[in-house]
Amino acid sequence: MLMLVALVWLCACQTLTAATSAPATSSRAETVTGAAVTPTLATPEQARVAETPAPSPEPMVIEPTALPEPGGTVTITILYDNNPYAPGLKTSWGFACLVETGEATVLFDTGGDAPLLLANMAALGIDPLSIEIIVLSHIHGDHTGGLKGLLEMGVQPTVYLPRSFPDDFKAQAQAAGATAVEADGPLEIMPGLWSTGEMGDGIREQALVVRTVPGLVVITGCAHPGVEKMVAQAKEVGQGKITLVMGGFHLGDASRGRIEGIIADFRRLGVQKVAPCHCTGKRAMEMFAAEYGEDFIETGVGKVLQIQ
Ligand SMILES: [Zn+2]
Ligand SMILES: [Zn+2]
Repeated sequence: MLMLVALVWLCACQTLTAATSAPATSSRAETVTGAAVTPTLATPEQARVAETPAPSPEPMVIEPTALPEPGGTVTITILYDNNPYAPGLKTSWGFACLVETGEATVLFDTGGDAPLLLANMAALGIDPLSIEIIVLSHIHGDHTGGLKGLLEMGVQPTVYLPRSFPDDFKAQAQAAGATAVEADGPLEIMPGLWSTGEMGDGIREQALVVRTVPGLVVITGCAHPGVEKMVAQAKEVGQGKITLVMGGFHLGDASRGRIEGIIADFRRLGVQKVAPCHCTGKRAMEMFAAEYGEDFIETGVGKVLQIQ
């Protein structure tokens, strides 16, 4: 039986068939389409195949995920970043993105301050009260600074944070209405959504792993433990191929040789697409762009990725 996943980049818009001939970077949303056909799970309705993709002329056919399941669209929206992307949104040093799986609305990191985060959410038409889960990658203020303001406005999430976080941070979050869950080792937040567990010898950090139809998406905050180590751990935790790695890669001071080594690790790990931002660094951005070509996704605040 044929088992195929067609992975197609569409220049986005509202629907699967609304591809236009405009360049991908001119549009806020991009769509990744996976058509999974298995003997037991797929139906003609589930096997969604994109038509006339643009700007990529040929659909890319890849192997199915290790755990093929019927699934809907996962939407990832960058809410806070120091890189501009969509007009009308504010930039500042830090990172936050919203992951909407259909099962849950998850905020990964909170940026450096709540007013800017909330202003960008308002501009994007996102209701903060829809947030059910917050995952904090690591303790640095440019990733955790927005939490207090979110809790003060009535968001009552379950917050997954590295166990190494200070006790007073956890206590304050709980006192403000959050339920704190400590991540030590790898942790299933819900089916298809994991923490890598806290990693690293210095700044302890966790990454978020999301199962989508085409494969696993790995989101890093700053990747202080080493982005290649976090991706390797994510692959173990999610037991699938890595469709996309996005977020801060923390390579601002890295040598050309070190970046080349990380790119080689990404290739060895089978990372298909990358969307680096935040603290990745100019040189690393350029080298990833050169290596990945059309699989390098330009991103910044306001970028919307639809993965299906
Ligand atoms: Zn950072
Ligand atoms: Zn950091």
